[in-house]
Amino acid sequence: MCNAFNKKFIDEAAHALSNQNKQNMEKSCNSNFMKQAVDAAIKGMLANEGGPFGCVIVKDGKVVGVGNNKVTSTNDPTAHAEVTAIRDACKNLGSFQLDGCTVYTSCEPCPMCLGAIYWARPDKVYYGSNQEDAANIGFDDQFIYDEIPLPYEKRSIPFEQCGRDVALEPFNMWAEKEDKTEY
Ligand SMILES: [Zn+2]
Repeated sequence: MCNAFNKKFIDEAAHALSNQNKQNMEKSCNSNFMKQAVDAAIKGMLANEGGPFGCVIVKDGKVVGVGNNKVTSTNDPTAHAEVTAIRDACKNLGSFQLDGCTVYTSCEPCPMCLGAIYWARPDKVYYGSNQEDAANIGFDDQFIYDEIPLPYEKRSIPFEQCGRDVALEPFNMWAEKEDKTEY
C-alpha cells in the first residue's frame, strides 16, 4: 500500500518534471533556426572545411551551439555537423547533457550522429533534407544501417571479441567506485 502510493507519487512527479522540461522545447519547427543550420552548412562548405552539413542547437529560444562538417579540414572523420554542434553547445552550457534543447540539423543525421544525439539527450530533432537527398549527392549512410543487424563476422569491418576477462576490470572498478558521476 505504502509502496504503491510512493510509486504513484514518484511517477506523477517524474511526469510533471518531464512536462516541465518539454515546455522549453521548440514546439514546432522554427524556420529561422533551420535557416541558421543551412547557413552554417553553406559557410563551412565554401570555406572548404568539409561537406555541406550544418547544425544549430537551441535552448530557451536562443542558439547555444553551432556546428558544420569539418571532416576534411581537421582530418577528423567524426567531425560531422551534429557532433561539432553538440560539442559547442555542451561546452557553452557547461554540461554533458542537452536537457531542454532542440537540435536543428540541415540533413537527417547519420547513424553516428543519431547515436551522439541520443547520448546528449536533447528534447527534439528537426532535420531539413533527408537520407535519400544526401545519398543523391554521394553521402550514403544506408550501408551503416545495413551493417548493424549483420553477424559480427559478416560485417565489412569484422568484429571479434578478445580479452573479456581483462576488459571487465574497469567495469568492476566502476561498479565499486563511490565518487562517480553517472550519466
Ligand atoms: Zn553524422
